[in-house]
Order: sequence, then C-alpha cells, then structure tokens
Amino acid sequence: MRVLVTGGAGFIGSHFVRQLLSGAYPELADAETVVLDKLTYAGNPANLATVAGHPRYRFVEGDICDGELMAALLRGTDLVVNFAAETHVDRSIEDADAFVRTNVLGTHTLLRAAADAGGVRVVHISTDEVYGSVADGSWTEDAPLAPNSPYAASKAASDLMALAFHRTHGLEVCVTRCSNNYGPYQYPEKVIPLFVTRLLDGGRVPLYGDGRNVRDWIHVDDHCRAVSLVAAKGTPGVYHIGGGSELSNTGLTERLLALLGRDWSAVESVADRKGHDLRYSVDASKIRAELGFAPRVALTDGLAATVRWYRENRSWWQPLLRHPQP
Ligand code: NAD
Repeated sequence: MRVLVTGGAGFIGSHFVRQLLSGAYPELADAETVVLDKLTYAGNPANLATVAGHPRYRFVEGDICDGELMAALLRGTDLVVNFAAETHVDRSIEDADAFVRTNVLGTHTLLRAAADAGGVRVVHISTDEVYGSVADGSWTEDAPLAPNSPYAASKAASDLMALAFHRTHGLEVCVTRCSNNYGPYQYPEKVIPLFVTRLLDGGRVPLYGDGRNVRDWIHVDDHCRAVSLVAAKGTPGVYHIGGGSELSNTGLTERLLALLGRDWSAVESVADRKGHDLRYSVDASKIRAELGFAPRVALTDGLAATVRWYRENRSWWQPLLRHPQP
C-alpha cells in the first residue's frame, strides 16, 4: 500500500507521518509513505528529521497546485491524506491570495488527479471553522457551512469541492472537520506556541479583545489517530473530530501562565482580530459511534507536555521567531 501525505512537513502532517512510520496505526502498518510538501514558511524538514532515513519513506518537494506532479504522484497511490494548506487566520486577513490558490485550487488539482488515477481513497483535512460561530450547542456533520474568515472560507470551498468529487465522480472521499490542535512542532505564530515561546523568553503575550472567545482543544496525537481511523475504516462523507475541552482564550492564557510561573502582568490586551468568531463547537458523536474514536490526552496533561517540549526544544523554534517581543 502506498500513502501520499500532502503538507506532511507541517505541524499536523508531520505528526501523522512520524506516527505512521513508527507503527502507531496498525491499519496502515507497512505502508510506503510519500510526503509532498511545498516547504512554505510553515513547512520544515526538521519536523521529519526522525524519519528521514526510514526505508518506507520518501520526500518530494512540490506544490499541490502542480497538476503534472500530482498526476505522477497519484499513479500507484492507494490513499491520499491532504493536510496541505495555508493555515493562519491572521495571514488570511492581511492577504488571502495564497489561501485561495493552495486551499481551493490546490485541493481541486489533487482531487482531479485522484479521480483520473482511479482507485485512490482521499482523506481531506478540513476544520471546524467552516461552520462559523455557534453561540450554544454543537454543530452536527449536516449543519450548513457559514465561514467568516478568508481562511475558513477557503477551507469551506475545498471541503465542499472534495464532497462534490465524491457525489459527482464517485471518488472515495472522507472529509474530517477537527477543532483546534496543539502539541509539539507547531509553528510559533499560533496562539499556544506563540504564548509559550514568549513566556519562556520572559516576554509578554498579546490577548485578543476581551479574551472571551471559546475554542475546543485537541492534542495533535489524538487528531492524527482519528485521521488514521477515518483513512482505514471511514465511509465517504464528513467526520467531526473534537477534543471535548472547550476553553476561553482567557482560560487558556491562565493555564499557560501557571505552567510557566508567570502572572497576569505578562498579558497585554490587543485589539480584537477582525471578524473574530466567538465560539466553535462540533458534535463528535459520529466518529465515536462508527469508528470507536475518543481522545486520550487530557488537556491538563497535554498542555504541560507541550510546554515541556518547547522548553526543551528551543533550537527548533528560536530560528522561526519573526516578531519582536511587544
Ligand atoms: P501548517 O501550516 O503547520 O502546515 C501546512 C503544511 O502545508 C506546510 O508544511 C506547508 O509547507 C504545506 N503547504 C502549504 N502550501 C502548500 C502547497 N501549495 N503544496 C504543498 N504543500 C503546501 O498547518 P497545520 O496546522 O499542520 O494544518 C494542517 C491541516 O489541518 C490544514 O489543512 C489545516 O487547515 C487543518 N486543520 C488545522 C487545525 C489546527 O488547529 N492547526 C485544526 C483543524 C484543521
């Protein structure tokens, strides 16, 4: 069996690849694993250093928008897991060009190559942000999409295109919509590694608006295990993946301050993100009922382990810091 992992040099994709090649996913054991990644600012070969010499691993530097390359890679591939995307909401607010290109056109190019190759199964990694904000309760998989940020809109477009390729062309496609991930190797522009690295450096952290925005947090290891189950046993359609750990940004900040021995004087209130959704929440009962998935990493333990990882791996994140301390 050959698996193509697109965006496999990023935060979540590289965790999936490291785990797959370590044998953590019995359903995908022995798979020949090809990573295709454009190595944007967010893609980092260091994330794959521990598997670089693995006999069943191959790395290809390239773009999912490259139709010829995708056609060549898809021939002989049995499963594609598409993590490749532009992913930072704040960047999409500044300029969404790359988001439309990679997330929409790139996903379409990949889907077309998969349909043309025939016999390929696709798992497309989407996000809970495609639904927009929900005041109470949780979205189920059949809820209408109402994305608000340019990032979320580009993810919604690619998500719907993936489902359309199933309905129109019969391509075997599963779409996963997961909540916020955290863990090691996350680029330090995202809130948890941004806050942790700034606090480790003795700096202050920028908290958006009134800090009341709520997100559900899942450890990257749980997300990737859920993806492996969908890849092996999912039926075409949508699966929610959630951590069952909702927290306001204020609550998250308090936990990180406590783990790093700092107090609220390390927090600087900054103007709210434009169009900032108040709350995301997905109902994850389908994947539990159908595939037996439940998260294993408790938020308290996962956050502590993540802080420890950033403390012990300064050489990984220090070269990536772009912003001066506020
Ligand atoms: P990331 O930004 O860390 O990694 C993205 C990877 O995609 C990078 O390695 C980058 O080089 C690669 N890439 C970008 N454009 C490409 C292109 N045109 N061709 C090939 N490769 C390209 O992102 P992440 O946090 O690991 O997210 C992975 C996926 O999971 C994304 O699709 C994202 O939307 C989705 N997701 C993320 C979260 C989260 O909390 N991080 C939550 C739900 C869903």
